[in-house]
Amino acid sequence: MSDSIITRLDASQSDFNQRLDQLLAWESVSDTRVASVVDDILHQVKTRGDAAVVEFTNKFDRRTAQSISDFVVTPAQLQHALTQISAEQRAALEVAAERIRNYHQHQLQRSWRYTEADGTVLGQQISAMERVGLYVPGGKASYPSSVLMNAIPAKVAGVDELTMVVPAPDGEISPMVLAAAAIAGVDRVITIGGAQAVAALAYGTETIAKVDKIVGPGNIYVATAKRAVFGQVAIDMIAGPSEILVVCDGLTDPDWIAMDLFSQAEHDEQAQSILLCPDADYLDKVEESIRRLLPSLARESIASVSLKNRGALIKVADMEQAIVVSNRIAPEHLELSVADPEALLPKVRHAGAIFMGRFTPEALGDYCAGPNHVLPTSGTARFSSPLGVYDFQKRSSIIMCSAAGASVLSKTASVLARSEYLEAHARSAEYRIID
Ligand code: NAD
Repeated sequence: MSDSIITRLDASQSDFNQRLDQLLAWESVSDTRVASVVDDILHQVKTRGDAAVVEFTNKFDRRTAQSISDFVVTPAQLQHALTQISAEQRAALEVAAERIRNYHQHQLQRSWRYTEADGTVLGQQISAMERVGLYVPGGKASYPSSVLMNAIPAKVAGVDELTMVVPAPDGEISPMVLAAAAIAGVDRVITIGGAQAVAALAYGTETIAKVDKIVGPGNIYVATAKRAVFGQVAIDMIAGPSEILVVCDGLTDPDWIAMDLFSQAEHDEQAQSILLCPDADYLDKVEESIRRLLPSLARESIASVSLKNRGALIKVADMEQAIVVSNRIAPEHLELSVADPEALLPKVRHAGAIFMGRFTPEALGDYCAGPNHVLPTSGTARFSSPLGVYDFQKRSSIIMCSAAGASVLSKTASVLARSEYLEAHARSAEYRIID
């Protein structure tokens, strides 16, 4: 229907699976024109270093810098940002940071080992990455929450040097972003962005140290550059548009659910908001709430396109079917807006973050509940997890053989090595055989 505000589907329809697939199809971030622009920027920065970073930044962000040092935010400027925001904003950042830090401390992986009967010791040693680069988008809007969510897990992991890059178009930068960096313990802030910033972090320049991993979201130039430097450095993920899937028993205030759906739809026109409920009358009520509340949003124009093109209210037979559909979608955010979310939880297999019960809107997780808001999108929750401390830690295997243990193992190794025709391997092992 041309005047429909959001698609209505029924999981009992014979073409339901096909219609759901059409709804879930997302635009790929790859674009050949952008790829060639990005390739050139990467090449220029790799070969000409700081000079190229300065040129591209002056061009794209309308800056007039002479050298990279003009883009560096000093520790004093970072501290000054804390005085430029309101006491209320500072307190909110500090509360959020504290909660995010506490939550992530639970994720720390620890080294472990065990000793076999003959004295051989096996285990894993955990160590933090040395240098990490954090991309914070700054072209069209500012995201202080992104700073907290990316920087805090890295610092909890024990990363020595965390360099944050954030573009400052026309030299303007949000004090909230700088204040968040100060609170999160970011070590260095440089006001550069786009593919040139990704290149500087990946390859290193005269003044910017090469990092081991680049994390953080960004526009298509940033995403394309991250994809291209992967291998040279690690990256977190290539995030797609935001998604929310709400499973509701039909007993939550419909206005609450409408606003929860909007909380993703207002992000961008490609964002996806879906509601599953067994009660068709309730879906009518949520649709009515959407019609009434949508015009009250400041970002109505973005949210309405997102809901119309990618949103859906879906009638399911029961909660069992709701979870089957949910697992198929593997949403970034899953809200279980039901009386007994614990009963559904064990059946949920694929979801980035699970918000349990009517009093847990996804918005709380976006900012301050504690868990990370960097989550797998576009169905990638089937095989990946939220950003966490473990993304900034590495594991090394530990093997320490006793003389007796080496003697036993060497016999096995020798047989396997000789069957692979690797004589030095076999003889190296055989030297350790005692009898
Ligand atoms: P951005 O920092 O990602 O990009 C700005 C930079 O893009 C500029 O500094 C410039 O260097 C580069 N650029 C712009 N036009 C260019 C051109 N024609 N050629 C070469 N380079 C060019 O900021 P943005 O543009 O505001 O985008 C922010 C993005 O981050 C949005 O897509 C938003 O959805 C996304 N985001 C995602 C999440 C998430 O969690 N998934 C969170 C926050 C933001």
